[in-house]
Amino acid sequence: MELVKYPDPFLKKPTVEVADFGDELAQNAQEMLELMYGCKGIGLAGPQAGLDKSLVIINPSGKQEDELVLVNPQVVDFSGKDTFEEGCLSFPGIYSKIVRPSRISCIARTLDGREVSFDCNGLVARIVLHEADHLKGVLLVDRMSPAQRKAHQRELRRLRKEYNG
Ligand SMILES: [Zn+2]
Repeated sequence: MELVKYPDPFLKKPTVEVADFGDELAQNAQEMLELMYGCKGIGLAGPQAGLDKSLVIINPSGKQEDELVLVNPQVVDFSGKDTFEEGCLSFPGIYSKIVRPSRISCIARTLDGREVSFDCNGLVARIVLHEADHLKGVLLVDRMSPAQRKAHQRELRRLRKEYNG
């Protein structure tokens, strides 16, 4: 499993909802966790791992008890507003201040298909929103203002050049 980086078109493809909660899904999540920890990331979505699945893993602290695996996550309610300098493993070296809701309510399924609902805020809410964007093919660069994109144009060009070889 390899990290998929901008501007790979696979990142723009919306994912498919998971219907099969079997061994393969658990294996996917395990490999994604290894990939994320290997890159020192705090969140990873299926498309970033080359998977066409609504699967997200999150760990804001890196401690095992904070590990969160979300299947078919949906943000069903949100409130507040928060600005935070956001990065993305698919955009190495790029950080941009992004405005997002500060509190969210979510529903998702666990790896064995159980439905869970939870509220969160702060960094966890930020990561869930960022990863939920990935599942719809929405990327960090899409959340930037035109001025922010301009400010990062050199790094974005560097990534496009690296991708094309
Ligand atoms: Zn990302």
